[in-house]
Amino acid sequence: MEGDGRHVKRSAVFVDRDGTINSDPGYLSDPDAFELLPHAGEGMRLLQENGFALVVISNQSGVGRGLITIPQLLKIHERMKSKLGEEGVKLDEIYYCPHHPDEGCSCRKPSPRLVMDAAGSLDLDLGSSYFVGDMVTDVQTGKGAGLKTVLVLTGSGRRSLGDARRLGVDHVAEDLLEAARWVVADHGSEAL
Ligand SMILES: [Zn+2]
Repeated sequence: MEGDGRHVKRSAVFVDRDGTINSDPGYLSDPDAFELLPHAGEGMRLLQENGFALVVISNQSGVGRGLITIPQLLKIHERMKSKLGEEGVKLDEIYYCPHHPDEGCSCRKPSPRLVMDAAGSLDLDLGSSYFVGDMVTDVQTGKGAGLKTVLVLTGSGRRSLGDARRLGVDHVAEDLLEAARWVVADHGSEAL
């Protein structure tokens, strides 16, 4: 920006998985049952085309609950990458918390820990980054990390709307595509 050759960190959009990118049957364990939500791929592609790093941040307590194994989870992630790849989207990274809520880990949303880890590993500028998800914990995670937040009304979004508004969510969007359009516009206006 300053033209002094200094390295400029990338902006990112952190995206929740179940109910935001894909339909959420509850503790998804069958990779073949993984389906992108309508327009989710298109939304991710729009963000990618606008230079954002794409990082998935997901609570997967089904692992800690013994409902799904890590190899199964990784197969689901391969399926997600494959489905998004068909839409021209390449994720920068997938971070997940595998723990049971009772374990008291430091990585489960609403902890911002995984966002912070990603920012360090991928050299991201959190001050110009966003969190998109369908749950109150996604809004809390984003706010905890100093990000702007978007609630999508897919998945659990409608149930989360009242609490998300009380927390001061920055924007409410019908789905990931509409969220992406708002992020691109908001980011552009910030840069002026
Ligand atoms: Zn954890």
